[in-house]
Amino acid sequence: MKKYQHYINGKWVDSVVHGENIIVNDPATEEVVGEISCAVKEDVDLAVEAAKKSYESRILVDMPPMERANLMRKIAEELRKVSKEGGKILCLENGKLLPAAEYEFIDAANYFDYYSGLTDKIEGRTIPVNSQVMDYTIYEPYGVSAHIVPWNYPISMLARSLSCAFAAGNSNIVKPAELTPLSTVSAFAKAIDNAGVPSGLINIICGYGSGAGNDLTAHQDVSQITFTGSVKTGKAILHAAAERAIPAVVELGGKSAAVVMPDADLDKVVNSAKGAIFGQAGQICSAMSRVIAHKSIKNELVDKLANLATSLKVGHGSEDGTELTPVISEEQLQKIENFSRSGQQGGASAVAGGNRVDRKGYYFEATVFDNVQPEMTIAQEEIFGPVLSVLEYNDPEEAINIANDTEFGLAAGVFTNDVNQATRMASQLNGGQIYVNSWFTGSVATPFGGYKQSGYSREKGQEAIKSYLQLKNVGIQL
Ligand code: NAD
Repeated sequence: MKKYQHYINGKWVDSVVHGENIIVNDPATEEVVGEISCAVKEDVDLAVEAAKKSYESRILVDMPPMERANLMRKIAEELRKVSKEGGKILCLENGKLLPAAEYEFIDAANYFDYYSGLTDKIEGRTIPVNSQVMDYTIYEPYGVSAHIVPWNYPISMLARSLSCAFAAGNSNIVKPAELTPLSTVSAFAKAIDNAGVPSGLINIICGYGSGAGNDLTAHQDVSQITFTGSVKTGKAILHAAAERAIPAVVELGGKSAAVVMPDADLDKVVNSAKGAIFGQAGQICSAMSRVIAHKSIKNELVDKLANLATSLKVGHGSEDGTELTPVISEEQLQKIENFSRSGQQGGASAVAGGNRVDRKGYYFEATVFDNVQPEMTIAQEEIFGPVLSVLEYNDPEEAINIANDTEFGLAAGVFTNDVNQATRMASQLNGGQIYVNSWFTGSVATPFGGYKQSGYSREKGQEAIKSYLQLKNVGIQL
């Protein structure tokens, strides 16, 4: 079995404590992909110490912005170089399609390229006080930034926050999810190393959330946290941050709805559903997990969605032609099964799927539920699987009420050819991003984040950089 290691202070190392190993499985075959010694408090201490020392050396802080930008572009170049090798490992440990796994490294490179362009635009301002005082502001990094990453997009999510924190001049510790750490500690770390990133600026350790994750967020020398994951853990992270009065970026779950108006092009809805609820087996924070369809077109749309769901080719992520990949674990599969059962017991009809797939691996059928009522669990909770709930509405007000009636507010969408309806809906739907006539229209340059329980932070785009900077005011008596 291949053994992987943590990346601390520019070196690959095992945990200093000879204890438990984390075994990583391929969700498609349930076979072992590799193992890594589980990071514990002593490893967290070493990683934080390395980050703190590198920060105090001011190697990144004092690096001229253009040089920092060049280093980030070099990281981007190296990430592109490892995309094939890293994609293979990511496909095996996560179960996702191989091209999608390779693309995460390209996406990561795009983040580093994008934020390299901001290194020389972190500008303060001068403030008139009186003729005897010269007053100006400076943006400075926080110091040591901790990044806690989920398993659904391990490389993209990591790069999203790390590139921005690095551009701002912070030293970093990354904790990948215990289900998918291998591509991060190997290929991602290799790109960092090959790019010549000075040791200590980026450290990667893998342990359990309740162990190393907890120790990291509670560490006295961590000065900022970025967490991407579930609402429940996000709240625990916010408590840990509050305990030490440090800032935290939180990017949490969702239950996003697409409102389909009577004039919509239904094929556009179906095309979006393919990627946005059945792609990545539905394990997408901003998945299009609810469709709210006008009663005049609902039956036609349900037929089309059911045809799509039943036509998808189930397979291993590395096989050509695969469209439906497994979910991450047996535990996740059971959760999805329970949701499906509760939907059927509550009166919703599974017009496609509804059960686990009868084959090895953690596969759940692409599922479409019709006759879903807004108060049902399958309309309210994040399932994080390939399960789409279709609800019906009569007038636009009702559609907005149904769409907004969950605790989440990550994304929402509207399908219509009427620009007035589109802009009205965009203004009234709760969500950090609104998609019109296609799901996932953003890029690394477009701000992303939630309303309500989906979190309040923004990542991506120019807005995100401020989360990694603190403001200093300097007043000089002349
Ligand atoms: P999770 O909350 O279970 O775990 C996320 C990370 O937190 C993992 O690395 C885990 O080890 C760590 N962790 C767990 N408990 C911890 C603790 N007490 N202290 C510190 N760290 C701890 O989430 P998950 O199951 O890995 O990811 C799925 C969730 O992530 C979904 O809800 C999804 O919507 C959300 N997500 C959100 C976004 C976004 O941008 N809003 C993006 C991707 C995923």
